[in-house]
Amino acid sequence: MRKIRVGVIGSTGSIGTQTLQVIKAHEDLFEVTLLACKRNIKLLSEQISHFNPTQVIHGDTTMLNYSETYTSCDIVINGISGLAGLLPTIAVLESPAKLATANKESLVSYGSKIMEIASRNNKTIIPVDSEHSAIFQCLEDLSNIKKLILTASGGPFRGYTTEQLEIVTSNEAIKHPTWNMGLKVTIDSATLMNKGMELIEAKHLFGVNDIDILIHKESVVHSLVEFKDGSMKAMLSNPDMTIPIQYALTFPKRVESMAKPLDLSNLGILTFGKPDFERFPCLGLALKVLNMGDLEGTVMAVADEIAVELFFNNKIGFYDIPDIIEKCLNEFQGGVITDVSDINAIANNVKRYIESKSYMRC
Ligand code: MN
Repeated sequence: MRKIRVGVIGSTGSIGTQTLQVIKAHEDLFEVTLLACKRNIKLLSEQISHFNPTQVIHGDTTMLNYSETYTSCDIVINGISGLAGLLPTIAVLESPAKLATANKESLVSYGSKIMEIASRNNKTIIPVDSEHSAIFQCLEDLSNIKKLILTASGGPFRGYTTEQLEIVTSNEAIKHPTWNMGLKVTIDSATLMNKGMELIEAKHLFGVNDIDILIHKESVVHSLVEFKDGSMKAMLSNPDMTIPIQYALTFPKRVESMAKPLDLSNLGILTFGKPDFERFPCLGLALKVLNMGDLEGTVMAVADEIAVELFFNNKIGFYDIPDIIEKCLNEFQGGVITDVSDINAIANNVKRYIESKSYMRC
């Protein structure tokens, strides 16, 4: 059998490196034909010498925005973080390659159009994010679904009070309890904006608007689907991103994995609870945006990206993040996104608006 030719864009990030781990464990099934990253040249050169790809893109990643770039790939894993992942998402969908994506921002900002582009090209977007992979694995008949239930670990500050949250720093957020992730996603998990973005992603990926959030600190149940008749399906595994990454690569087949098998008798207890919208206002903001359009999604994604960077550089406090996002959502609303260039225009306006506030000078 011919090996599956995999492109990994964002190859030095958290998703990229874990994808390459999966491929390394299955070199009989996969070969790497494309590696791309923006910065980490040292790790990239190690990856090049191990995987010997036919194509490498580093630094100026404009090439990732063109479908011709992906003709050497059967499947592309988009592990790029932030809005920078949007144009590559579109380009892969317009190319012959399959798209497996971990990039949340493409769907949050441009989801309606992305799904149109996918269906015009007869493509199924294969989700890599653990929750969406779980739902993808639970789905049978879309017409019988009542609702989706996304689980959330609750982030590193799950048990914190509002007073404690007012003074937390980005260093504390980086100690996430369960998942090993990139910096942006780590801060987004601390504010629960990560879960908020996943709500919007899920709406687009599965065409369902009724979505609940369930706090589940063990991160063993990765999400659930509730059907009309009241039955539910859940996908369970140890919290290990290599499982959803590998499934994205082998879908619809499954192969042995290097992940530790789940021992439920050893685990004993799984807990579930409601999210606290008061302590984590980002979740409420995202729920509002869930019922709005791509414009509001873009504003939320851009404002969050800027606010997270400010928080990361200790320029603002934890609650300034939802505050900035809310102000931006109030300032920019009611427009329509027709073209991908609109996203850039909105991103610039949001950036300028935040800069005009005092946040940058603290
Ligand atoms: Mn996730």
